Amino acid sequence: MGMRVRTTNGTERELGQDMLATLRAGLRGPVLVPGDEGFESSRTVWNAMIDRTPALVARCLGTADVAAAVQFAREQDILLCIKGGGHNIAGLAVADGALMLDMSMMRGVWVDGERRMARAQAGCLLGDVDRETQMHGLAAVLGFVSLTGITGLTLGGGFGYLTRRWGWTSDNVAGMDVVTADGRLVRASERENPDLFWGLRGGGGNFGVVTGIDYVLYDVGPEIVGGAVAWPGSETARVLELYRTLIESAPPELTLLALIRPAPPAPWLPKEIHGQPIAAIVACYSGRVEEGETLVAPIKKFGKPVGDILVRRPYVQQQALFDATQPKGRRYYWKSEYLPDVKAELCDTLVTHAARFASPHSALILFDVAGALNRLPAEHSAVGNRDARYVVNITSAWERSEDDARNIEWARSAWSDTKPFSTGGNYVNFQTYDESAERLQAALGPALPRLAAIKTKWDPGNVFRTNRNVAPAGSHVS
Ligand SMILES: Cc1cc2nc3c(=O)[nH]c(=O)nc-3n(C[C@H](O)[C@H](O)[C@H](O)COP(=O)(O)OP(=O)(O)OC[C@H]3O[C@@H](n4cnc5c(N)ncnc54)[C@H](O)[C@@H]3O)c2cc1C
Repeated sequence: MGMRVRTTNGTERELGQDMLATLRAGLRGPVLVPGDEGFESSRTVWNAMIDRTPALVARCLGTADVAAAVQFAREQDILLCIKGGGHNIAGLAVADGALMLDMSMMRGVWVDGERRMARAQAGCLLGDVDRETQMHGLAAVLGFVSLTGITGLTLGGGFGYLTRRWGWTSDNVAGMDVVTADGRLVRASERENPDLFWGLRGGGGNFGVVTGIDYVLYDVGPEIVGGAVAWPGSETARVLELYRTLIESAPPELTLLALIRPAPPAPWLPKEIHGQPIAAIVACYSGRVEEGETLVAPIKKFGKPVGDILVRRPYVQQQALFDATQPKGRRYYWKSEYLPDVKAELCDTLVTHAARFASPHSALILFDVAGALNRLPAEHSAVGNRDARYVVNITSAWERSEDDARNIEWARSAWSDTKPFSTGGNYVNFQTYDESAERLQAALGPALPRLAAIKTKWDPGNVFRTNRNVAPAGSHVS
């Protein structure tokens, strides 16, 4: 008895046991089918709204496994999907009936302290890279939640606490190793295949399977000043006003987030306010700690906080600060926009929607990304959005499917009121499963024609299609 697989044009067909044996013989890593131990953990992704089942999971142990699996999928015409950290909210890592390349066993990190470079295998999570680079007092420009996959994040752009100083994550990549649609291993960098390198920095998984990424590193930590101060929800308008004042003069070493949500049951927040609205400012100062302490003093002195964990702490701890509030297995729906500034009217809008959260896990977040990314030319790489100075993210999170409609409605309504404040751009990596072609256009805009040409050259058959697809006549398959 064989198994049902999905082809690239969406039809189903039988794959015989002999072919499964051929695939298994060609890989060092295991190939899992439904029912095998580990299959469920590969199949499931961070967002429980996504419930899809691939036919086969290849847990690749190295680049040769990746090449063999890509070749097999192409020869057998089986839909291919690639799972990095599985954190994409749209669930782009998993497709029904597909052959999934699960990269989670490729998590090696090698740091060259002298050259200030790290080479990371594509299955790494952010925390894997931070842990190794911090041994050298160095850090790559990565995101805010340590359990996110490096590859999905980097291919879509990427931003975090170091973005103000050094730009998008993808601005700080020296090169990538890529297995192309025809199973070849190529290098993408400024010198080697520069067109591919240009497209990979923003264009997602459209062009091949990335097996390794070389990151440029910077002096950061190991100790920084970071954490959060929270006030009762009744203070939200004043806290947002403070946030607006602080971001006016904050140096690039200081990244500030405004976070409005019902209080999570975190140990640093008193039990009585768990579930009650709070407004918080999250800070990370990555320069000299003494200067950081002076700069965050006005935050700590402001009003009457209900909690304050803004202190000297290890950078790796800061990078994991949000992990517990974003667990795998909840239902999530986000909407985001890039902003040129944070207007008082936008803050009023956030206050209005904070008064009607549909779930205790949802949040409204403002991120400051202004700085280095704005100084590069628009055509530097596909990620673009060089006019983005802030990000607003409306994050709906809840537990039960019967609450889907209510929570999605909350996010969509808050989004519709924040859209007028947008640069017109949005972050491709924050797009949900139901985003339209117009949203992709808004996210990647002027880069799309060039991305389509790169796609035609490197993946003419659209083998890599379970993504925000840039193929000329392409459409997203899920
Ligand atoms: C809790 C949470 C926090 C986040 N915080 C941030 C943040 O601070 N900053 C930020 O910039 N973004 C952030 N994101 C967004 C994040 O960048 C995207 O969700 C990203 O897609 C995650 O990458 P992943 O590898 O985990 O995803 P996956 O779901 O595994 O993959 C995402 C896409 O990348 C492709 N892909 C994965 N690996 C490869 C590979 N090796 N080769 C080719 N294609 C590949 C997949 O096929 C898929 O299309 C966050 C997301 C979550 C859920």
